[in-house]
Amino acid sequence: MLKGNTAIVTGGSRGIGAAIAKKLASLGADIALLDIGNNDQAAEVCAVCEKEYGVKTAFYSCNVADFEQTKQVITQVGKDFENVTVLINNAGITRDGLLMMMNEKQFDDVISVNLKGAFNMIKHCSRLFMKNKCGRIVNISSVSGLSGNAGQANYSASKAGLVGLTKTVAREFASKNITCNAIAPGFIQTDMTADISAENNPLAAQIPLGRPGTPDDIAGAAAFLVTSPYVTGVVLRVDGGLGM
Ligand code: NAP
Repeated sequence: MLKGNTAIVTGGSRGIGAAIAKKLASLGADIALLDIGNNDQAAEVCAVCEKEYGVKTAFYSCNVADFEQTKQVITQVGKDFENVTVLINNAGITRDGLLMMMNEKQFDDVISVNLKGAFNMIKHCSRLFMKNKCGRIVNISSVSGLSGNAGQANYSASKAGLVGLTKTVAREFASKNITCNAIAPGFIQTDMTADISAENNPLAAQIPLGRPGTPDDIAGAAAFLVTSPYVTGVVLRVDGGLGM
């Protein structure tokens, strides 16, 4: 389905990003994995993609918040791979705290990685998408960005910002066969949520489907958006019904 295409996945060394990279590889996409530094785990994800699905992969150490670094890395990806058409903006961090306790650095760091990081990636990849006459961008937002979440003013703002970015990019690039969509995951079991157990999280008890999500649940949604050329500007909740 994606054979002959290259997908860039940020934050691909673990959690949701690793699951998305493997899912897109299973559909035939070559994978350019970007991560801030988890080299061993990134190498493992690349090895699985190559061994199980026979695709080409490469790992690039890159801080998505750094405009110049993302520019250089994407230029390099464009040289190393053919037909880059897919971008998954998945890299994200949390620095939680109630607003009255949150310092400026906590706020700036989260906005820089989660929101500016996506801007950097889209801006530099857009050149490749125009050249290849196709682009499929998926931004990983969050239900926190849609409903707000006490203790996450920085994170919720960054994820809500991604929704605006998604819809604007969808409009600006629609005539160029470049789509842009967002996924808003609910409570997904990864390292990011490792300190919140499903048992004592009141939110988890309210999930109509009765369980927290898995990275594979999000990967399936990403694969759908990447392979759906007539879907753009959408924010797809993948939250077990939490947001109903
Ligand atoms: P995770 O397990 O903490 O993984 C985050 C990934 O992002 C790691 O690979 C990390 O690299 C990478 N990363 C962090 N900062 C980076 C930077 N500046 N540049 C490049 N890569 C960077 O998180 P996750 O749970 O899989 O979450 C993935 C995405 O889904 C995030 O955007 C998150 O906000 C969103 N999300 C998650 C949930 C959830 O319940 N888990 C819910 C809603 C939304 P290292 O491994 O090198 O640290």
